[in-house]
Amino acid sequence: MASLFMTPVTALSGIGPAKAEQLKKLGVTTVGELLRLYPRSYEDWSKPVSIAQAQEGDTCCIRARVVSCAKPAYIRKNMTLYKFTVSDGEDYMLLSFFNTLFVYEQLKRGGEFLFYGTVRKTDRGTEMSTPKLLASGTPHIRPIYQQTNTLKSSHIEKAMQQAVRMLPERVNDTIPAAVREEYGLCDLKYALENIHFPKDGEALETARRRLVFEELMILETGVCLKGSERLTKKPVHISRDYTKEYISLLPYKLTGAQNRVIKECVNDMQTAAHPMNRLIQGDVGSGKTAVAAAVCYTAAKNGLQCAFMVPTEILAAQHYETLSGIFRDTDIKLELLTGSTKPAEKERIYRELIDGETDIVIGTHALISENVEFKNLGLVITDEQHRFGVGQRAALTSKGEAPHVIVMSATPIPRTLALMLFGDLELSVIDELPPGRQKVNTYCVDGGLRERIYKFMKKHIDEGRQCYIICPLVEQNDTELNSAQEYAESLKDTVLGGCRICVLHGRMSAAEKDRIMGLFAGGEADILVSTTVVEVGVNVPNAVIMLIENAERFGLSQLHQLRGRVGRGTAQSYCIMVTDNTSPVTQERLGVMCRTNNGFVIADEDLRLRGPGDFFGSRQHGLPEFRLVKTSDMVNIESARQAARRILAADPLLEDKENAPLLFEVRRLFPIASS
Ligand code: ADP
Ligand code: MG
Repeated sequence: MASLFMTPVTALSGIGPAKAEQLKKLGVTTVGELLRLYPRSYEDWSKPVSIAQAQEGDTCCIRARVVSCAKPAYIRKNMTLYKFTVSDGEDYMLLSFFNTLFVYEQLKRGGEFLFYGTVRKTDRGTEMSTPKLLASGTPHIRPIYQQTNTLKSSHIEKAMQQAVRMLPERVNDTIPAAVREEYGLCDLKYALENIHFPKDGEALETARRRLVFEELMILETGVCLKGSERLTKKPVHISRDYTKEYISLLPYKLTGAQNRVIKECVNDMQTAAHPMNRLIQGDVGSGKTAVAAAVCYTAAKNGLQCAFMVPTEILAAQHYETLSGIFRDTDIKLELLTGSTKPAEKERIYRELIDGETDIVIGTHALISENVEFKNLGLVITDEQHRFGVGQRAALTSKGEAPHVIVMSATPIPRTLALMLFGDLELSVIDELPPGRQKVNTYCVDGGLRERIYKFMKKHIDEGRQCYIICPLVEQNDTELNSAQEYAESLKDTVLGGCRICVLHGRMSAAEKDRIMGLFAGGEADILVSTTVVEVGVNVPNAVIMLIENAERFGLSQLHQLRGRVGRGTAQSYCIMVTDNTSPVTQERLGVMCRTNNGFVIADEDLRLRGPGDFFGSRQHGLPEFRLVKTSDMVNIESARQAARRILAADPLLEDKENAPLLFEVRRLFPIASS
């Protein structure tokens, strides 16, 4: 299979330069990497149900014949509605499509099809709006891949079909045969074939189980290799603690917890036998940034360079502002480096980093770029760690000889997982909020109250306050992607019509996002209508209301993060979650939010309600490739760790021929953990 990692995706028919460029955005440039791009979900076209069986809200597949087709209705410019009636022989179903002339041409001719979509039961009967369709073929399970602007899941599916056929008869397996045998795992070829094109549900589960095990094993192996590397390194010790001096720069008094955690970090840097590897957990608003700044200050004053990596440009800019403010009257030299930093500016920053003129650089993953070199990198901090992959963090660390490492997180992670994701690490907890914080009053209401909520917001805006409105990002359907924009438009006809509204969404360029955040943070807008891009870390203390539309779509931890955007000053703040979903599960979940403001309690509840799968959700586990883990895999974690440790015990550097494929994968996912 190694050779497939040398075969560019352009070798596949249908993948030209443009599509290859899109695939690159998904981290795929070779056929080998493509095969490792697992589906994010599946559509089960394998078990069609009858129209009568389909319940309101079900997403399912129905086999039916076209019975009649209405005349196309021109609703408005650029908008044509096509309606059909289909039947499965027993019942009828109404289908509607917009602007899809080719579908109309296809269905007009009649015949039997498989329709896949979400069922609505209305007083007109059973309906499906814009279902997908297949001219009746063999029912099967279809993979759904992450898409980009112009690369559709179906494009990837076509390329994948070819890629799977390119797999050699015998694929060198990452998991040694003995381990596969012991844990009842299928081989790599079967796993890859069935994760993409499952024969049936059982084959999919078999494939998934094996790939999860494999990922866990690779992760453990990489972390072990990396960890043992750390333990062989001598740390650079600092001689003096500058925390007192730092404190004199602050406009407020540090909390006891902040002081304690800073001390723990400084102690490590002064005396620990190995470079520091510390996880700082602190609830949203607990003041992690001030702690990070303190540790940077002491490190910098001792002549070490610091790199502070954050997941978004908005956050990088904000931290830069905060730290610039604190360090204004000091000799600390601070830089901001992100993807949208101008080329000339970048050159200057690169130069000053390698000359050692810069003390602290704050940035996004732009910091990992090859061009970034340090004279003396001594401290690496990553904020909101769950947004980064293990490999990304490792890449930054490798830019120093043996830098001290801090990762910061607002999400409490169970110890087993933390060990696995970060290797042996020390834990510091900021278990205290700055004084004067009030509990954010939290409510869960249905859409019927929206007018009243708007009035409530208007009242606060008239008093000079600001508000957030979060509308969910609608994926897949391109036309809905601008939901934030449309939502903002719709506010014009409400009591909020006269307010200054700005809009933020994921499709904007980083520079544009920064500009908008800057407007809002500077008080030049009253309302920020946004998708979840504001979720992490943003700090605008004057904002007091957080309105979350379709709250049922968010996980508890995510809701808690969103709520954490308000209540950051001393004024009473509010979080209003709007949902029309009355299911007991949703109500229980949102009820937790109303009952408590404690992030640790919420994380526990999240664990109880949704299982640890969420910690592995593509965003939280830290390794983006690690997509497959579900609740039931907790048992797997221990087995995979053991297997990895046993392999390493027998062959510490993975020199054995049989372990070559494992080493290959570890190297691929941990770019530098290989020496
Ligand atoms: P988080 O832990 O969520 O990253 P931040 O570091 O963004 O929190 O801090 C949230 C807010 O609290 C900021 O406005 C910061 O200035 C303020 N803050 C931090 N520490 C203190 C403190 N000890 N006293 C008062 N305000 C503080
Ligand atoms: Mg933060």
